[in-house]
Amino acid sequence: MAKLTDSVSILKGVGPAKAKQFAALNIYTLGDLICHFPRGYEDRTRLVSIEKLEPDRPACFKAMVMNTPRTSHIRKGLDITRVQVADTTARLNLTFFNNRYVSDQLQYGREYIFYGAVNGDYAGYSMTNPVFESPEVSGLMTRRILPIYPLTAGLTNAAMGRAVQQALSICDPPEEILPESVRREYGILPAQEAYFAIHAPKTMEQAEQAKRRLIFEEFFVFSAGLSLMRQSRAEKKTEPYENLDLTEFYRALPFALTGAQRRAVEDIVRDLGSGAPMNRLVQGDVGSGKTMVAAAAAFCAARNGKQTALMAPTEILAEQHCASLGKLFAPLGISVGLLTGSMSVKEKRLTREAVEAGQLQAVVGTHALLSDTTVFRELGLVIADEQHRFGVAQRSRLAAKGHDPHLLVMSATPIPRTLALLMYGDLEVSILDELPPGREPVDTFLVGESYRPRINAFIRKQVEQGHQCFVVCPAVEETEELGIKSASAWAEALQQTVFPDLRISLLHGQMKGAEKEAVMTAFARGEADVLVATTVIEVGVDVPNATLMVIEDADRFGLSQLHQLRGRVGRGGAKSYCILTSHNRNPETLQRLKALCKTTDGFKIAEEDLRLRGPGDFFGSRQSGLPAFRVADLSFDLKELKQAQEASARWIEEYGDTDLPEARALRARIADLFARAEGTMN
Ligand code: ADP
Ligand code: MG
Repeated sequence: MAKLTDSVSILKGVGPAKAKQFAALNIYTLGDLICHFPRGYEDRTRLVSIEKLEPDRPACFKAMVMNTPRTSHIRKGLDITRVQVADTTARLNLTFFNNRYVSDQLQYGREYIFYGAVNGDYAGYSMTNPVFESPEVSGLMTRRILPIYPLTAGLTNAAMGRAVQQALSICDPPEEILPESVRREYGILPAQEAYFAIHAPKTMEQAEQAKRRLIFEEFFVFSAGLSLMRQSRAEKKTEPYENLDLTEFYRALPFALTGAQRRAVEDIVRDLGSGAPMNRLVQGDVGSGKTMVAAAAAFCAARNGKQTALMAPTEILAEQHCASLGKLFAPLGISVGLLTGSMSVKEKRLTREAVEAGQLQAVVGTHALLSDTTVFRELGLVIADEQHRFGVAQRSRLAAKGHDPHLLVMSATPIPRTLALLMYGDLEVSILDELPPGREPVDTFLVGESYRPRINAFIRKQVEQGHQCFVVCPAVEETEELGIKSASAWAEALQQTVFPDLRISLLHGQMKGAEKEAVMTAFARGEADVLVATTVIEVGVDVPNATLMVIEDADRFGLSQLHQLRGRVGRGGAKSYCILTSHNRNPETLQRLKALCKTTDGFKIAEEDLRLRGPGDFFGSRQSGLPAFRVADLSFDLKELKQAQEASARWIEEYGDTDLPEARALRARIADLFARAEGTMN
């Protein structure tokens, strides 16, 4: 018996060339091969008589070859082989293109099983390129449910199928990790059965069951991993912070915290004083004031002689945080530094030295902040802002790095509970469900192209009142797709033909970091009137003077994404507006967009988005920070996820750290999944 970790090259027919093709699909071992699941199936079980064959509905039929196949050479590169077959109900002409083997294989007077669909013309039905095999070996290409695999150049589906079957015949599939009690409760197939059935189901129903089992298993492993992480971090010890008096901090604030902010700060203070590392997610809609909550945590760390690392997803945002924290902290004697990729080597070195010497109590930057070259003298708190790129793997790595700093993750994307558990099951949650006072909701309108003159007039009016506008387009460059606005072209058009007298600038993700930053900083300073951009502005940047957000081709975005974009305005005192344009006439699409005009509750919008588009789209183009699931794509059935979460939470609680064989197998699988996740995220 071979092992799951053995190389695919031990299989018959897999030489170096084949192995390379497998490698292109990330298949190196028998285990990888067995876990290379079909992306779909072709049901070839139906057997009918020739008479019953229908166009566009492939089926199997048994027929006798009525003449010797004849091949004609039509022109270079085109050979056609014709043969007639018949059963008791009818005759049928078959045509094969460029298939030299047909004439050797199909013998006059013998019976074969064929699979294909007829095509009709005035002369009756015929069939092109059917699959066939002799009845004795039938069951490989016909009369079965054929798994269809993801493939790569040079690798045929048949070759893949053969390799998988061979692997399964010489090697046991992965061992059972789902406890029997869980399987029974949720009606889940045992592992062995599922691995065989997913590659060679007898019925479509069995294929479904196998898939369900494997999806359930994936979610179970992942959720269990999060639970274990949470458990093990809760058991860790750190020295409790003793100086947790925030009076001084509150006095330095230019405003009073909202009730929700205060509650979040209290949660944090409790965590910091508990003696176990904090593991908290602060979730709050755009503008709910997460930065000040983070600042409170950084203040506590500083007062306890610890450093804070604040990670932002973009350099622009890092700069903005650095500036606002610096201003707030200066009178409190807490120094804040910046560390981003576009700083000069010397600047970076100086900051790093100050961090290492402990002269900086807080440092703001992008991910690079946690790279090995940054050495902290006394890192006590890590804050990740806009968490999407700070996924589970990063969190587990942070904990694994030896130091166990307090961790505060801040998310501006309201996420439905089910998904939140999937992404943050290892974290405690504080929710900011209150906006600072005096904020008027952003008025949102959905309009068609006929409103263009009025939109333009409205932009001009905002600018004349001394305000600024964002215009967001779905694409950077001209796209093939007709009528989709690209930021570059649209910026150009606005400048040339509509607003020659206004200052229009352009921002998109393909610009260099420094360039982007310069544009954004200039806009924030009021040096441009209109910023035409792609969704790069979605994350975090604060321009209180911007009062209008125009989103072109709004149907191209997810609701949650639109809500995020809308959150870029309405951050100052002035009344703000969001205009969604769309050519789309699909009633469902329009309904979806209208929902956004009616509510400003991020959670409601998120639930709606999830319901309408499923979790895959829900996250839009952003990285979800989730590992690459093998069976479960993110368009999964949420029911499976819920069940797996329930089951794993209960099971881990009871047996997670025991020596039961399933528990041990499960822990090994978790380690494997998280290791794999590291490679696929970021
Ligand atoms: P977000 O949650 O989107 O990160 P920010 O922390 O950037 O929100 O806060 C948005 C704006 O609201 C900032 O200009 C901030 O100074 C201001 N702000 C935050 N908290 C309050 C408060 N309690 N009262 C008044 N303004 C506040
Ligand atoms: Mg923020």
